[in-house]
Amino acid sequence: MKLLLATNNIGKQKEIRALLENLDITLLSPLEMGLNLKVVEDGETYQANATIKARAFAQASGIWVLADDSGLEVDALDGAPGLRSARYAPNPHPTDADRRKFLLHNLKLHKRPWQAQFRCVVALAHPSGEIHHAEGICPGEIIPKERGTQGFGYDPIFLIPQKKLTMAELSMPEKNQLSHRALAISAIRPLLIKKILATRQF
Ligand code: IMP
Repeated sequence: MKLLLATNNIGKQKEIRALLENLDITLLSPLEMGLNLKVVEDGETYQANATIKARAFAQASGIWVLADDSGLEVDALDGAPGLRSARYAPNPHPTDADRRKFLLHNLKLHKRPWQAQFRCVVALAHPSGEIHHAEGICPGEIIPKERGTQGFGYDPIFLIPQKKLTMAELSMPEKNQLSHRALAISAIRPLLIKKILATRQF
């Protein structure tokens, strides 16, 4: 079975590839399929945005698609950046470092600990319109000084309290045991296996 990962985010792609590596499945990126879609993520929930991406890529590719929509929710900021995590900075084309800097700037006047959670919703979509979803949540705390060089996005300032390490100090296999994305993918995995088996019968 071929499965298109509906993301150009290299960090996400690497994690998802590792999470699905022992399945009998050929994972493809939009680049590998020659797809250059600009999808407007204007949904009001993670599920809506994951659906928009999964449906657009399924229509364009004609194969099964796995899309992920994720974000960081900080309690002291009433859940921000949330759905806007990728766009969270004063400049129009922010880097990961710009987003982290802006978040820490906005938290400066708030009392620590800065409780937070990563949330991820995955959508598994077929060009026929069939679609399934799963969610994963990873609780943690934002810290004021960056630590670690692994991962991507907000990982260097996201502490996993029980490990006393940031997400960026974890190796990818370690992050893939507890992250929001890993939990969402593990929840949708049985369905994916069913689809792989169904494809084999034809
Ligand atoms: P989107 O899912 O493409 O809308 O982007 C979500 C944004 O949330 C990313 O660009 C990152 O800034 C952030 N994010 C999502 N997952 C992670 C993660 O595992 N680590 C760090 N940042 C993340």
